[in-house]
Amino acid sequence: MAQVSFELPSPEDTVQFGRSLGRLLRAGDLVLLAGPLGAGKTTMARGIAEGMGVSGRVSSPTFVLARVHPAGDPGVPLVHVDAYRLGDDLSQLDDLDLDTDLEEAAIVVEWGEGLAERLSEDYLVVRLGRRPDDVRVVSLEPHGDWTERAPQARLAG
Ligand code: ADP
Ligand code: MG
Repeated sequence: MAQVSFELPSPEDTVQFGRSLGRLLRAGDLVLLAGPLGAGKTTMARGIAEGMGVSGRVSSPTFVLARVHPAGDPGVPLVHVDAYRLGDDLSQLDDLDLDTDLEEAAIVVEWGEGLAERLSEDYLVVRLGRRPDDVRVVSLEPHGDWTERAPQARLAG
């Protein structure tokens, strides 16, 4: 599938893109935020949370491993995970006592590439990059049933 990438000139554009994506998310969805430190992963997660209408301030999950944001009304909870800290065994997620059923939530993972795929064969990679002029570029890599959901088309413009 052709790669489509979008330019995000400012942090607000990153949030806005996340909001649009967040509105598409349903229970059981898995989204991997990929890209180097400072690329905008947590900023994007903040937008996703807004689009989902969940409560609680989104911050870097680095010190908490995973944070649950309770569902809005209507909506599903957001589980925001830092796989960097969680290490190479994401099945630990089940042991974290997250106070939510993972199947009933949307899971957004920072640093999850190479790990989170184990959770589901259906997932969306949101790849963030930083150009020398500081503009961020984002591209979407759908896997499994995400290919039919064609998020590129829905998030364009
Ligand atoms: P990460 O979680 O990938 O390490 P953050 O979301 O913490 O990255 O963002 C790092 C910095 O980049 C923040 O200061 C944020 O405001 C900024 N940023 C996010 N998106 C953009 C953008 N599109 N253009 C410029 N700066 C951005
Ligand atoms: Mg971060």
